[in-house]
Parts: sequence; C-alpha cells; structure tokens
Amino acid sequence: MLLIKNVQTYSPDPLGRMDLLIAGGRIERLEAGLRMPRGWAEVIDGSKLIATPGFIDGHVHLIGGGGEGGYKTRTPELMLSDAIHGGITSIVGCLGTDGITRSLPALLAKARALEEEGISTWMYSGAYGVPLPTLTGSLESDLILIDKVIGAGEVAISDHRSSQPSFEAISRLSGEARRGGMLSGKAGLMHFHLGDGMRRLELLERMVAETELPLSQFLPTHINRNPDLFEKGIAWAQMGGAVDFTTSTVPRFLQEGEVKCSIALKRMLQAGVDLGRISFSSDGQGSLPDYHEDGRLKGIGVGRVTSLFAEVRDAIQQEGVPLEQAISVITANPARTLKLPGKGRLAPGMDGDVVLLNANLEVDTVIARGKVLMRRGKLLVRGTFEK
Ligand code: ZN
Repeated sequence: MLLIKNVQTYSPDPLGRMDLLIAGGRIERLEAGLRMPRGWAEVIDGSKLIATPGFIDGHVHLIGGGGEGGYKTRTPELMLSDAIHGGITSIVGCLGTDGITRSLPALLAKARALEEEGISTWMYSGAYGVPLPTLTGSLESDLILIDKVIGAGEVAISDHRSSQPSFEAISRLSGEARRGGMLSGKAGLMHFHLGDGMRRLELLERMVAETELPLSQFLPTHINRNPDLFEKGIAWAQMGGAVDFTTSTVPRFLQEGEVKCSIALKRMLQAGVDLGRISFSSDGQGSLPDYHEDGRLKGIGVGRVTSLFAEVRDAIQQEGVPLEQAISVITANPARTLKLPGKGRLAPGMDGDVVLLNANLEVDTVIARGKVLMRRGKLLVRGTFEK
C-alpha cells in the first residue's frame, strides 16, 4: 500500500489537501486526515507537492513513424523512460504515413510490452491510408476481438500524403467503427490526421450533416497546425465535436502559423468552447521534417512525449489558464473521449495512476497502477533494454 499524505489534490477538480491511499493498484481512499496504523503503507510526504491523475497521451507512434524523407528518416520507437519522464501513465499508439514497413502486429506487441513494463496502453487500428491495414481483416472485427484497439487512426484527410479517401469510403469505415465500438463497449473512434489541405474539416462536417453518425464518433487531431484549421476547429468544437491539439513542434512550424498548444487552449476557452471537448496529445516519436524554401528536406526531428505536459505547464504559467482546467486536457478529457476505463480521475476505485508535481510544476513522482516509477525526478523503473 502507498499513502500520499497531505497533498494538494486536483482530481482534476481542486479538492484541497488530501490523503491518497493506493492499494492493489487502485485508489482505495481519498480523504483529508486519513488515519492508518504505522508501518501499514509506504508513505510519501505530499505537503510540498501537487497530485494529479497520471497523464494520458492519446497519439504516440510507439514503434516509430516518419520515413517521409526516405528510409533513413524512419524514427525510433518509444522507450518506457520517455513516457515516465513525461508523467504519462496511459498511451494510445498508432501507425502513421507508413503502413507498409510499420505493421499493426508490431504496434500491438509494443503496446503489450509497455503494459508489461508498467504503464497502460491502447492502440488504433489502421494508418494514414484507406483501405486501412487491420489485424483481423476488418476494423469492426479488430475492435470486437482485440482488447487494445479503440478505433481507427490516424487516418489522413486534407493532406497530400492521404489516400484522398472518398466520402463514401470514410462513411463506410465510420459505420464499422461505430458498430465495433458499440459491440465491444469501446469508443470506436475515427481518429483523423488533419493535414494543411484546404478542405480542412469538410469531410467530417459532411459526415455529421449527411449520415446518422454522431459527432462523438470523430476525433480530429493536429487542429492547431495552422490558423485557418484552428478557426474551423473552434466551430467544430462549438458544435459539440472533440478537438485534439498536437504538442510536439519545432520553432519553424510556430513561425509559419502553427498555434502553440498553450495559446490554443486559452483561445478555445475564450471562444466559449466547452473545456471537456479539448485534449492534447504529443504525436511522440513522429517525425518533424523541416524543409528549405525550395522544398528540399533540411533536417528531421522526432516528436517528444515530454512536450505533452510542457504545453500544459505553459498554459498555466504563461497563459494563466487555471491548473484544474489545463490539467483536464491530458487527464479527464481524453479518458472520456477515448473511453479509457479507470483512467483520468483521482477517485476511489480508479486506477492508481498519479503524478506528483513540485511547486515549479515539474514532474517529481510518477505512479502507475500503484507502482512508483519515478521519485523526486529519479527513475526507479526502466524499460527492459534501457540502462
Ligand atoms: Zn498525424
């Protein structure tokens, strides 16, 4: 058993100073002035710390991605310590542009490996292109037969790298996602990668107008990638749709008009968007290609999962977004949108996934399903092949 004493607690709702008892991998009690017999639990003094739910990163290229600049630009896979440093205790993996040299069986194996190493994982079936690669022959059966699959993604639209899928093709797939999600008790999401293409969110808007599919079936990401898409995203969210922002970036993207996540969150809230619709994800291990003016590849970087909380911290410290609101976009909101059981909130019965932050809002301690993975900034657990 693990007892965190006298810690400023955000469930993400602000609860004040609480004692948090974790037993059997779950939150057992959450109350002020909890009394326990001496020696029954390992005690962490939380008096100088802030407790939040473990962070959820809903879009990570677990086995690497990229490759758009040729084979040598294929990016490396995620290591457990990357996630721990970022305070991330739940991850959803996906393939990207490359659905040929990267495969769903490899992604499923990696998701299972990270789960064995201590964090919670899920995955999307499919990749950029349509028809989608699948594990069992169809998206619908992947959802019903493979526990880790929560939907299809990232399916590329409004992008020169997409397969330019037709309205009919996406409608059919979305119907499969809906049925598969219902029959398996999962979200059954269509997780769309939005490119810089001028069609923006047209396909999704048409889907809602012309089919019976509800808005909740669709989760578009990279909504902050340019100012015009961001405006379309505000309208989509005002209609009740979920929007996901991407935290990994390079200075050049921001110079060219990408809306920094911390600022994007503040602007969405100012526009009256319901906070519950907004989530951040890192696009971790995805490639960040940088091009010369004439289109030649200049260099390539790799997205980092640590950018996820860095943007939340900036939203609090630089944009003045209240901590309980900012933290929701990487805890309660993705847990609800992605329908991840036991995740995203601190409450009795929920999984023992907790992040402790210091006064400077740095990740101090990371606990996943009751196990301490990092303490006072020092890793206690590493991946199988990490030194
Ligand atoms: Zn993408």
